[in-house]
Amino acid sequence: MDSSLVVCPHCARLHQRISLKPGAVASCVRCGTELYRESRLSLQSWLALTWGALAVFCLANYFPVARLSMQGQTLQATLLDALVMTWQQGAWLVALPATLFTFFFPLGQILFAMWALQCIRKRRLPGDFRYGLRMLEVLSHWSMVPVLLLGILVAMVKLGDLAVLHIGEGLWAFGALSVLLTILTRMSAYRLWRYAEEAGLVRRSGEGVDLARPVAACTACGCVQNMPLSGVMRCGRCRAWFHFRKPHIRNRVWALLITATILYIPANVWPVMTLRMPTGEAAHTILGGVIELWNYGSWDLALIVFIASVVVPSSKLLALSILMVRRYHWRGVAMQRQRTRLYAIVEFVGQWSMLDVFVVLLLSALVSFPGLAQIRVEPGAAFFGLVVILTMLAAMSYDPRLGWDQCHESRSVNHPAVHH
Ligand SMILES: [Zn+2]
Ligand SMILES: [Zn+2]
Repeated sequence: MDSSLVVCPHCARLHQRISLKPGAVASCVRCGTELYRESRLSLQSWLALTWGALAVFCLANYFPVARLSMQGQTLQATLLDALVMTWQQGAWLVALPATLFTFFFPLGQILFAMWALQCIRKRRLPGDFRYGLRMLEVLSHWSMVPVLLLGILVAMVKLGDLAVLHIGEGLWAFGALSVLLTILTRMSAYRLWRYAEEAGLVRRSGEGVDLARPVAACTACGCVQNMPLSGVMRCGRCRAWFHFRKPHIRNRVWALLITATILYIPANVWPVMTLRMPTGEAAHTILGGVIELWNYGSWDLALIVFIASVVVPSSKLLALSILMVRRYHWRGVAMQRQRTRLYAIVEFVGQWSMLDVFVVLLLSALVSFPGLAQIRVEPGAAFFGLVVILTMLAAMSYDPRLGWDQCHESRSVNHPAVHH
């Protein structure tokens, strides 16, 4: 076979890689999942984009996101101030994931992408290229700057009623950073391996594959190769261990789902924050926060927070349970397409539920006027963050290919469907 092979990550159908026009997308003929796309940007432009993202990242973290004035006192906070204050308050179960997801992971995502692009451009791959790309994949999955940006906006509306608020320069930088990181997320490990392949630096995906024997793609680099009957092997290209299908998904996904469901109760019943004023102390739950936003008249933000914090986590738990229950009894291609689409949605919305955790963190940092008004992070926020992390892990442990294995599969290699 002359051209490279691509395997659909959701249904395992084999496709031949064809060259596309810039901006075009190739998707799976069987389930519709996007397989790869041809960028309008050159490698050089992507590299420039990473440098731009790094500069904007520095600006976003250097300047305060907001200034708050109350009875002659003014307080301003950068994202780092907010994270440090949460640590100092002792809410480390909130501070730790927030620090990773909004600071270290986005920074790592930019740096690893920059390094990998630089290696490909110089046409020299170091020995640790494969570890770098594995790292990039994990970091970009958990990097949550767009969610943080929405969190800042919601926090500002909530504060508008309490004190005089001025938007900081950091907010504009976070807006720009969200756009740049959303574009940069497209530069995934698979794509970087494809660039390395096209530059002739690594072995071609599907090289020397015998289609009469079982075939699978490495989950770390996407390289298509023959699989031994044991169903587990080490990738011939990037040396990562991978399975024919994800192992023990029943136990793993159910364990994560059940734990998340149990923790979802304290996350909603316990307050996520308390507001201390000279007039008294008030505890706020997640749902209470939504009602409060509604009463301020910002029904649009109330709706966004309601969807992100209530609708998304509960429907994610429900959707994953539906996918897990009796999955061997759902038959037919049409049914599997529906299930794959449902799974893709669950994967996509995963991190947006972190919204309320970030809102609480920012509020507690900005409203710190002892004697006048103070907001503290409460355990409900930590439980809520754990629920979001657990459901994201559950979605990652699920394997939609298992459902497709029930359908009759022809061994032929297809051309992908192309959209412009
Ligand atoms: Zn597919
Ligand atoms: Zn590999």
